[in-house]
Amino acid sequence: MSTRKVGSTGRFGSRYGKKVRDLIRDVEKIQRQSHVCPRCSMPHSKRVAKGVYLCGKCGNKFTGQAYFPRGG
Ligand SMILES: [Zn+2]
Repeated sequence: MSTRKVGSTGRFGSRYGKKVRDLIRDVEKIQRQSHVCPRCSMPHSKRVAKGVYLCGKCGNKFTGQAYFPRGG
């Protein structure tokens, strides 16, 4: 749901304050991007769970940090 100008963080309502929601929105934006697969080096990996990424190109499943495959 991205119906509000706050983007994906609209589901939090106003409970957490703008600052926190802005932080979460940045994190989730990066999460949803495709990540580079360490096996085939193609940016087709998607985060499937906390710290787990699946490459849609070669099917490689690899682990990383909770929110980003590496570094950030
Ligand atoms: Zn791959």
